[in-house]
Amino acid sequence: MVYVNLMLGLGMVLVSVATAFYLNSRHTLEPRLEPRPRCAVCLEEMFYGDMHYMKCGHALHKACFQEFRYVNKNCFVCNKLINANLPGDLCTICFDPLYKSNMSHLICNHALHTKCLKEYVDKGARNCPVCRMELEGTRIS
Ligand SMILES: [Zn+2]
Ligand SMILES: [Zn+2]
Ligand SMILES: [Zn+2]
Ligand SMILES: [Zn+2]
Repeated sequence: MVYVNLMLGLGMVLVSVATAFYLNSRHTLEPRLEPRPRCAVCLEEMFYGDMHYMKCGHALHKACFQEFRYVNKNCFVCNKLINANLPGDLCTICFDPLYKSNMSHLICNHALHTKCLKEYVDKGARNCPVCRMELEGTRIS
């Protein structure tokens, strides 16, 4: 019985040594440089000048974000709501559906028809009609 216990104990030691060795060697094989972050849309690496940070803290390529904001409401990584309005949603001002070609995003990520937004701002409004966030910095294009 003592003999069996001894063998078992020895076996355990060998396994843990082997595991430690394996983990250690694997660790040293890993590249030292941090991998560049990858864009969740196109899965390509991102460079710092070409990243758009969303309000959840995740980033996409600037161009990929411009596509993403018309197709998906939630961040692909953490699933937080990023784009409040997609094409097909109704404009808060005129209640007609929005289309990619005629909608503009506010800084809060709500969207309205470009025309409706222009008229709204021309009337002197300074806040998003949906969430009341200040429109300062919103580009009307
Ligand atoms: Zn991308
Ligand atoms: Zn996210
Ligand atoms: Zn409208
Ligand atoms: Zn808003």
